[in-house]
Amino acid sequence: MSPADPLLRVTGLQKSFGDNRVLSSIGLDLADGQVLALVGPSGSGKTTVLRCLNGLETPDGGTVAFRGGPDVDFGTKVAKKEALALRDRSAMVFQNYNLFPHMTVLENIIEGPVQVQKRPRREAVVDAERLLERVGLAEKRDDHPFNLSGGQQQRVGIVRALALRPDLLLFDEPTSALDPELVGEVLTVIKELAEEKWTMVIVTHELAFAREVADEVVFMDGGVVVEHGHPDQVLRNPREERTRRFVQRLL
Ligand code: ADP
Repeated sequence: MSPADPLLRVTGLQKSFGDNRVLSSIGLDLADGQVLALVGPSGSGKTTVLRCLNGLETPDGGTVAFRGGPDVDFGTKVAKKEALALRDRSAMVFQNYNLFPHMTVLENIIEGPVQVQKRPRREAVVDAERLLERVGLAEKRDDHPFNLSGGQQQRVGIVRALALRPDLLLFDEPTSALDPELVGEVLTVIKELAEEKWTMVIVTHELAFAREVADEVVFMDGGVVVEHGHPDQVLRNPREERTRRFVQRLL
């Protein structure tokens, strides 16, 4: 795609698991620095969208294109090199943090940059220390994840994603495994990233947070985008009955 294009363009994304058609035809455009909140009932396909963008699932059809990269068309046979290049453009923050329990905080963070991206270890360590400092966890560098609270582990999860220097950050319900009193510290970090103009897709049930942080809200149900638009419109004044019912239940 050319420089005038959005950072990410997804068209006609499809995915089935056996007979279960999970994504029917999902389209998304994401500009630089834009924050998109993906909301919808459990099982509507939100996580699968993130996993398809991040190369953790292979779509059955549709195209995914990052600016400066090829239009990867999953309706045709996709070359391994293209699929790998796509994977490098984004980094995921998982619901359950997914930290390696046998590694220290620092080792968790530098694993991807050093092992996958082949960056010099010393540079990766400096980067990791700077990022840990930013989220207030510099002194946890040599601890193991089980010595950290859930909120601290998720902040490490965010740092691990940032350390990959991706174009796009993907958050999969980043606070839903946390005790209520720990949610705020993670949302604060995500808000700061939004202010710094990171481009992000956030799957969340925290609708008040989505309204505050997102530039656009996409409401999904049954593997389709039912409605999308400005957060105030979709979450306060939805056009579609299905959106209205969902929003009323959660707000
Ligand atoms: P959401 O994130 O909106 O809760 P998901 O994308 O996690 O929805 O799941 C959508 C549907 O896809 C669900 O019915 C789920 O059971 C199914 N699904 C997701 N991942 C797999 C998988 N790896 N194998 C089989 N079914 C899956």
